[in-house]
Amino acid sequence: MKTDNIDLSLLPLELNIVPPGLELALAQEGISAVPSSDWESQRKNFPSKMSERGKFVLYDSSMTGYQSVCRSCVPGQKVIDVSVLRNGWDMDPFQALIDIQTRRGGWKINATLVTEMVSRYPKDVIRRKLLQTLRRTIEDEGGVWLCVSPYPYPYRSTFNFRIDYDEYQAADFTSIVKQCETLQSVTSHYVCASAFQKQPQVLGALKEFDVGGHGWIHRTFRDRMQNHGNIQRGMQWLQDQNLDVDGFVSPHGIWNRGLGCVLEDLGIRFSSEFGLAHDELPFYPYMESCSSGRLQSSDEPADFVRPQSTSVHSGYFSSVLQIPVHPVCLGVLLEAGICDPSIISEYFLSVIERKFQEGSPVFLYGHPTRRLGQWPVVISAAYRAAQQYPQMWKTTLRNFAQWWHQRNRLCPVVNRRHDGYEVFVNTSSQNWTAAVQFWRGDKVALIPLDSTRQLLCPEFLDFQSCCSRSESDGVPQSVPISWKTKLRNWLEVESMSEINQKRISRVSQFFTKSQRLMSEPIRK
Ligand SMILES: [Zn+2]
Repeated sequence: MKTDNIDLSLLPLELNIVPPGLELALAQEGISAVPSSDWESQRKNFPSKMSERGKFVLYDSSMTGYQSVCRSCVPGQKVIDVSVLRNGWDMDPFQALIDIQTRRGGWKINATLVTEMVSRYPKDVIRRKLLQTLRRTIEDEGGVWLCVSPYPYPYRSTFNFRIDYDEYQAADFTSIVKQCETLQSVTSHYVCASAFQKQPQVLGALKEFDVGGHGWIHRTFRDRMQNHGNIQRGMQWLQDQNLDVDGFVSPHGIWNRGLGCVLEDLGIRFSSEFGLAHDELPFYPYMESCSSGRLQSSDEPADFVRPQSTSVHSGYFSSVLQIPVHPVCLGVLLEAGICDPSIISEYFLSVIERKFQEGSPVFLYGHPTRRLGQWPVVISAAYRAAQQYPQMWKTTLRNFAQWWHQRNRLCPVVNRRHDGYEVFVNTSSQNWTAAVQFWRGDKVALIPLDSTRQLLCPEFLDFQSCCSRSESDGVPQSVPISWKTKLRNWLEVESMSEINQKRISRVSQFFTKSQRLMSEPIRK
């Protein structure tokens, strides 16, 4: 007869029926979690270490009934209704985490408003707040908040500067390549292929760099097939120039379902935008089913365990990692009229410092032509600032994506022992040493996962203050969008088929004419 004293594993959390947004957030946070339906198969990876069921069963009472969850429980399990985490929000926070809409966000920089089209919600703020409440509930019930760190041991943040080559201008191209020669290991370079069609030989300068695709032409379509043709042609052309191409970043930072499906079809391992999320930890986007079916990425690990493709939702989690980038680049600052080098440097240095203090990644980007090519000092100044933090991992986006795929395969099992906790994890085939963050109040201890079994005794761990941030730090305000901007956004992503070209031209003519008519009395 089972009793309440049975030692059930504190982690993974057992997921009965929960919103996909919660699964996504737990995976970002590095909290191991396994659906009830997959528990038995996951347990085979940890024979005799993982209990027959999880101590904590999470379910959403708006999706399933308490009685139905309890019927399948064993003694000792604690059932937690995550529906209560929605209290106090003016929208469904779980839905917000998988939302794909955008808004115009604005940042006040030295009294100047700088704007960019970014994801509708500040997903990092929502994730942190939601999981903070869940963490309290689990700790109150005797659980532990032990996360796989977002970075390899011993790092607490990461840094990369991404360059997008939308167009080619000889002097600016040469300038940026020269600037990056000594920064190959911390920069990533994304090339819009058609811009180099007339001078492919210059791309030889990027041979030793981390290079990825940025489309054949500089456009992100809503339509899946048009995206497919544009991305595939661009990637193929770059490979034909003997460049080792990995990853994709979409023109204008846009992410849409048509794009998400194509990236999967093409087996691309990661993409980096700010339209799906910004200033946030990487994640595998939640996808509605793609019409022609999902094609698996050939290098998706066989033991891809988290986040799960769940059977209770209509969608699934993409295999293409999303690495959100900070949306304010040099070009955005210059366009807003901020041209003072000291204000520009100060802005990027403050972003780097804030993100290190938060324990967030620093992923910056910019363009060479008329911008970084003429202001290469922005890259070197940012790098020098990052160098002040030895615990900031300076790397390429390619390496970071590889690391995150490795991290995603870890699913630690945590059991209570009389003097602490026992952590089991499969450390085979690790290119980087992973670490766990053991949280106590607002302090954290970082422990390397360098063996398959770790005994953690809290009294001997070095807990340090970490990750201070106020909720509004770096969060853009909502800026109303004018009809002109709406039209421009629509034009940027709309299909460029012949029919649409005509439609666009008609709409443009209409607005130009209307504007002329409206402004004529003023000119007079
Ligand atoms: Zn671009």
